[in-house]
Amino acid sequence: MTIRSRFAPSPTGYLHIGGARTALYAWAFARRYGGTFILRIEDTDVERSTPEAVQAILDGMQWLGLTPDEGPFYQMRRMARYKEAIDTMLAAGSAYHCYMSAAELDRLREAQRARGDKPRYDGTWRPEPGKILPPIPADVQPVVRFRNPEGGMVAWVDAVKGRIEIANMELDDLVIARADGTPTYNFCVCVDDWDMKITHVIRGDDHVNNTPRQINILQALGAEVPVYAHLSMILGDDGQKLSKRHGAVSVMEYPANGYVRDAVLNYLARLGWSHGDDEVFSMAQFCEWFDLDHITPSAAQFNTEKLNWLNQEYLKKMDGEALGAALAPFLLQAGLDVTHGPPVAKVAELLRDRAPTLVEMAAQAHYFYQRPMIDLALLAQHLVAPATPAIRSLAEQLKSISWSKADISVAIKAEVSQAGLKMPQLMMPLRVLLTGQTQTPGVDAVIDVLGRDEVIARLAANLP
Ligand code: GLU
Repeated sequence: MTIRSRFAPSPTGYLHIGGARTALYAWAFARRYGGTFILRIEDTDVERSTPEAVQAILDGMQWLGLTPDEGPFYQMRRMARYKEAIDTMLAAGSAYHCYMSAAELDRLREAQRARGDKPRYDGTWRPEPGKILPPIPADVQPVVRFRNPEGGMVAWVDAVKGRIEIANMELDDLVIARADGTPTYNFCVCVDDWDMKITHVIRGDDHVNNTPRQINILQALGAEVPVYAHLSMILGDDGQKLSKRHGAVSVMEYPANGYVRDAVLNYLARLGWSHGDDEVFSMAQFCEWFDLDHITPSAAQFNTEKLNWLNQEYLKKMDGEALGAALAPFLLQAGLDVTHGPPVAKVAELLRDRAPTLVEMAAQAHYFYQRPMIDLALLAQHLVAPATPAIRSLAEQLKSISWSKADISVAIKAEVSQAGLKMPQLMMPLRVLLTGQTQTPGVDAVIDVLGRDEVIARLAANLP
């Protein structure tokens, strides 16, 4: 069997993190088994679907690198096909016209509720052998209802949740085409999954309730029923349903917030699936490992700290030039002129051990591209009297020594011992003078990256 999986988002907003995980799993599943991954845009809800949301999904998928092998297919372009399938079902008797008006249906439901019953269609227009249907009213455009099997159970073995079954009695006859002829959501999904020969439906568990209906419709169509794998939802750090309150929910906020693609993918891969204790792995590795058996049926909890940790792991592994190229836009965005100052790659390499995201890294990189404002009170706090001549002497030396971190370090140590100071007594005021801050990477490394002229200029300008 050739595996065919799909991601079928409704374009009603941005691609959120839960959708991205669903897409990733469906994609990886196809990759693992040499199958086909299909993208289908479920845009039949014309009130809520927008072209911007379609674009947001395509952008998100592209950023994640989840390229479909087929599609994107758009449901709105398949209307003729759905109509044809409905006509076939009407002809076969697995669907029927229902002329109950909206007002009648409301009255029916009200009466059911009043009796304490679950509101459901009562089968008035369902043809049965020997049953005489009411006269067709002239002024009602009929809907088409699916003739749901009456007895027995619908059951499936969900690849994540295990066996699920529901009595057909619980399912009333679903409307599959509205009075204006447009097909309804559950019906389109069935025709598509059938036509697209989907073997595995991997989707959020908010669709578990749709599955028995879809299985019945697929069977009525004479289609193969795919394997279903329903992914549990993603909760926020606090155990509540993940929402904007918890921070970024849209996938595209992640690159904007300084996360790199491989880290986000790796994080999503682990969010509800595991391979032993493995935490850091490439997508190539993930595609070799991914299976449905190791998806956790319990809700996954989004953990920003863990994502930050992973992101930093990826930043640490990146080639210096690539890291610099990734950081540069964030520096520009912060209004820094990177053409005046050290090469961004050098700054990035220096800061990568201290910053979980590129945004944070850019925030820490300011003083490389902008002369700092020195807080004199802060300087006074760190500058003991004998350090001033020592720094002056160091500044002299820095004019001529060979320029490397090691040579700079030797020069600093020599001044420290000559002046009879403790290391921090020289390091701290030096750090404040050069960067305006008390927390930076090693001073020798900062001096090295800032460059000779800039260091000498800053010391000359700031040393009292
Ligand atoms: N369009 C549905 C959604 O965005 C997904 C349907 C499916 O995967 O079957 O929630």
